[in-house]
Amino acid sequence: MRRVYLDHAATTAVHPEVLEEMLPYLKEEFGNPSSIYSWGREAKAAVEKARARLAHLLGAHPAEIVFTSGGTESDNFALRGVAAANSQKGNHIITTKIEHHAVLHTAEQLEKEGFRVTYLPVDRDGLVRPEDLEEALTPDTVLVSIMFANNEIGTIEPIAELARIAKSKGVIFHTDAVQAVGNIPIDVKELNVDLLSLSGHKIYGPKGTGALYIRRGTRIEPLLLGGAQERKWRAGTENVPGIVGLGKAAELAEKELPQRMKHLTELRDLLINGVMERIDHVRLNGHRTQRLPGNASFCFEFVEGESLLLNLDLAGIAASSGSACTSGSLEPSHVLMALGIPPEVAHGSLRLTLGRDNTREDVEYVLSVLPDIVARLRAISPLAPGGVKEDV
Ligand SMILES: *Cc1c(COP(=O)(O)O)cnc(C)c1O
Repeated sequence: MRRVYLDHAATTAVHPEVLEEMLPYLKEEFGNPSSIYSWGREAKAAVEKARARLAHLLGAHPAEIVFTSGGTESDNFALRGVAAANSQKGNHIITTKIEHHAVLHTAEQLEKEGFRVTYLPVDRDGLVRPEDLEEALTPDTVLVSIMFANNEIGTIEPIAELARIAKSKGVIFHTDAVQAVGNIPIDVKELNVDLLSLSGHKIYGPKGTGALYIRRGTRIEPLLLGGAQERKWRAGTENVPGIVGLGKAAELAEKELPQRMKHLTELRDLLINGVMERIDHVRLNGHRTQRLPGNASFCFEFVEGESLLLNLDLAGIAASSGSACTSGSLEPSHVLMALGIPPEVAHGSLRLTLGRDNTREDVEYVLSVLPDIVARLRAISPLAPGGVKEDV
């Protein structure tokens, strides 16, 4: 059976060249970068080479890059670090209703610790309105955290404009760019952001790797205390093979970006148009054009997202739904709720995210099986028009 992986927003395969570059650091080049003998110096040099590559991808200075264990740690670091370092100035944080849980749950925890958090709404396409940010800023605001691109619906936020508004009031601006890095061009100097989170495994690097860009002079405290690694910004012996892999993934992302964007946008539009043409009672989630090149997100009325996923899996297709199944109760996605989608429609959500290895044949295969799956599920749904009605 054909197998098609369409969940690149969840994770990606390590690029063969990334693996190649990592291998020596899992074998003979095992030194601790803090050691002064040759093994240590070589490991240290590899870490600094990776830092330079990542900085180049973002238009940053290498000294502004701190390696972390991933997007989640970078988000925690940004929010908690700025909150701790600026609590004298104020206790107000602004974020949005559609952030990743790494930001949302950290903000909720900070609320328990005495911070006040404003969660900005979004419009029906998932866009934050700049005037809402303007209105929410107060003299007590110490941080604005708004994601670059949404992981579920793919909408790309107007980050340069939002950062300009925050910065004009002297407020630190963080963006979770985990989904944006490697998929769209990013220059931290042009965007004027202070902090930016990224993750290795979303850009064909290894899992458990990531970084936080920290603009020079930003008031922030470290999250992890201990040794003097990462110039005391992040204690703990460096994940040298992981960092080397992330560095290589960053270099490849920069080199391949134009081809990746073109390839993914073509496949995405083929997929979106194909689904909209072949299936009725379907809604495209997220902005039609202001969206990630590889993201296609839908809600199918009268269908359970979970059943859709199981049936796609049986057809060899890996996809994702917006609902998180918690303790047996299906909670509709907070992102789809924020778009104003009714819960019963949000339950029929499906996210297909493309990657560099996907082909037109992959998309055609999905388009050949998805309409039948949806039709079959609707045929047994008591809610669907023409579906099976239970006798009462
Ligand atoms: C995946 C993801 C994260 C978490 O990154 P990890 O490296 O898996 O911890 C954070 N934010 C967004 C938008 C993501 O897509």
